[in-house]
Amino acid sequence: MVSNNLYETAQRQFERAADLVDLPVAYRTILSSPKNEIIVNFPVLMDDGAYRLFRGYRIQHNNLLGPYKGGIRFSEYVDLDEVKALATWMTWKTALMGLPFGGAKGGITMDPRMHSRDELRRIVRRFTHALGNNIGPEHDIPAPDLGSNAEAMVWMMDTYANSVDGGQNVKRVVTGKTVECGGSVGRDKATGQGVAFCLAHHLELSGRAVSDVSIAIQGFGNVGEHTARVLTAMGARVIAIADMSGAIECSDGLDPESLWFHVNKTGGVVGYPDSRELSADEFFSVDADVLIPAAIENQITVDRVERIKASIIVEAANGPTTPEAELQLIERGVEILPDIIANAGGVVVSYFEWIQNKMSQQWSLATVDEELRKLMWDACDRVEERRLALRCSRRDAAYAVALDRLRTVYDQRGIFP
Ligand code: NAD
Repeated sequence: MVSNNLYETAQRQFERAADLVDLPVAYRTILSSPKNEIIVNFPVLMDDGAYRLFRGYRIQHNNLLGPYKGGIRFSEYVDLDEVKALATWMTWKTALMGLPFGGAKGGITMDPRMHSRDELRRIVRRFTHALGNNIGPEHDIPAPDLGSNAEAMVWMMDTYANSVDGGQNVKRVVTGKTVECGGSVGRDKATGQGVAFCLAHHLELSGRAVSDVSIAIQGFGNVGEHTARVLTAMGARVIAIADMSGAIECSDGLDPESLWFHVNKTGGVVGYPDSRELSADEFFSVDADVLIPAAIENQITVDRVERIKASIIVEAANGPTTPEAELQLIERGVEILPDIIANAGGVVVSYFEWIQNKMSQQWSLATVDEELRKLMWDACDRVEERRLALRCSRRDAAYAVALDRLRTVYDQRGIFP
């Protein structure tokens, strides 16, 4: 039976790439498990006066290249295997992008939409307190992910600052903060901007441009919305969008700004003026050149492969394609730009934020975007070069670049003691 367990998917991808690059057994053994798995249960006062127990996770996969780095997810579906998979992917992502970070991920099992702002603040603060010194500006640096946002990162930073000696000086314990509280300009759109750079670079290889393609995006949260905005600004036609409320199609192309107002007013994309409502399966059948999953994992499954008309899939979400679906899509000639490169813009600009905090600097948006473009294109080039040399999929090539870097550092440092 086909399993959609995310950690099994991550393990299978790693094993395949490790075989491909002939990774020494010792490194393979180390990298096949997270270093630390932290689970905290903590009580939080609800608005009605009752206490509720919450469960939170911080999985620290690897810190060979630098402090652990990765987002904090708020979702009712967060569980240990999901966070382990996401943490593992962060190790490959930071290695591939050449950042001085390792990989981690965290999460709290709760639906943020079911809580008032006051409850959310108490949940985030209590979680951060429970993590204590398991995070730190040179040790483990959280960031936003699905369901969390800049405001939650500010609460984390403030809680850490007030609980730890010297904490007031270390805003960089968390990235993805609001600009006023030490965040970087451009971090809010960074993942979407990176998706756009990655797609533009890929299209350029075959003499095309973003303005030549039509696009369908699943998800209109941080990543989906900014991806839609940036690509539209570059001349693309975004013709379909899906979110938790349903899916819509506007074959002439929709305006992300007015859709954003509609979503803010109504809670979802459905009902957007002059759009046609689609079922979830119809969304995957839309006649778009490029499909961008930017919501949750396991969305491109074997039963949806047949419907997909797009010839390019850009994985803005983490783990949106199951391994079986990927094989079938590749056989059909669909080009898949894998998550560990396509959505790396977020962690790259988190790195810029961390540097700016460290140096007490504030970069301009033009600098942030240009530095991000350089890192994204450079990583895309390295993946393409490796893909041609190894004659493998883009995902395997991206893993190969990441594993090469880790292997070189292990070779030089050795394994302690
Ligand atoms: P978000 O919470 O801001 O938005 C999620 C969006 O997905 C919402 O529009 C929601 O309605 C939609 N969605 C959720 N479940 C859905 C479903 N079953 N069908 C259709 N739509 C659904 O989250 P985000 O930060 O945009 O993250 C999206 C993805 O991108 C996740 O996989 C996350 O791990 C990944 N990612 C995020 C960042 C970041 O900087 N935020 C960085 C890298 C990768």
